[in-house]
Amino acid sequence: MRRDRFLKTLAVVPLLGTLARLKGFASGLPYTPPMPVLFLGHGSPMNAIEENDFVRGFREVAARIPRPRGIVCVSAHWETRGTRVTAMPQPRTIHDFRGFPPELYAVQYPALGDPLLAGEVRDLARKTLIEDDHAWGLDHGAWSVLRHLYPEADIPVVQLSLDTQLDPAGHLALAAELRALRERGVLIVGSGNIVHNLGLVAWDKLHVDGYAYGWAEEARTTINELILKGDTGSLATIRSLGRAFSLAIPTPEHYLPLLYTMGLRTEQDDVRLFNDAHVGGSLTMTSVVVG
Ligand code: ZN
Repeated sequence: MRRDRFLKTLAVVPLLGTLARLKGFASGLPYTPPMPVLFLGHGSPMNAIEENDFVRGFREVAARIPRPRGIVCVSAHWETRGTRVTAMPQPRTIHDFRGFPPELYAVQYPALGDPLLAGEVRDLARKTLIEDDHAWGLDHGAWSVLRHLYPEADIPVVQLSLDTQLDPAGHLALAAELRALRERGVLIVGSGNIVHNLGLVAWDKLHVDGYAYGWAEEARTTINELILKGDTGSLATIRSLGRAFSLAIPTPEHYLPLLYTMGLRTEQDDVRLFNDAHVGGSLTMTSVVVG
């Protein structure tokens, strides 16, 4: 190699390193085609141990998508001040509910954590400070669905918390910063429920297929249209659209995981709904595959 070309090559090496870091490729993990992103309506914790159409829907989706090397789960059931990521090697299974049968409390989901993946999440978020967490684990928003997708619990899982201080646009922006993970074989799963008003559940209609209040049906229809159009701006401001939406989303935590899923979408992605059904009048199980 001529000396001037050799010197030019040397000059390019640090530049490549900078580009790699800018793109969040510092880990050197192998490139993969973009992984899909999921939003899973988790519903009752009993779905963890029941056999029904919803859990069959979860299994079918897992069978259709590439096997991930790791999972990042944004669960409705982990809210914190500031954003945190679980960084322990062996997260505990958290039974964060009351009044359910003993067999549900006996469920363990012994997936390993992935401190390196937690580090990648932290490094990719340039505008948001994400702190390592060693106290949480896997809450039922994560394990009640993941045990249907990956029953062997043989894929490492980290959880990302919902920062209660962040507005919906902030959650969308954070999601967009994590897009590079999709090209590193990482499956990102939002777990919540789009229509979720526990205070208004029609308990006597729980087993009436498709029973829905008018406002729940209105919210489901409109939100589904926005999801399929990829209109993240309108999804972020949906609660201001009127009574149907403030009833459907009385508190943000079960809705916000959807914004992570939609914020990770690119123009190339297809968007598909499944498990799109009402339960008990005031809940929907609607789930989304992006990509
Ligand atoms: Zn929940």
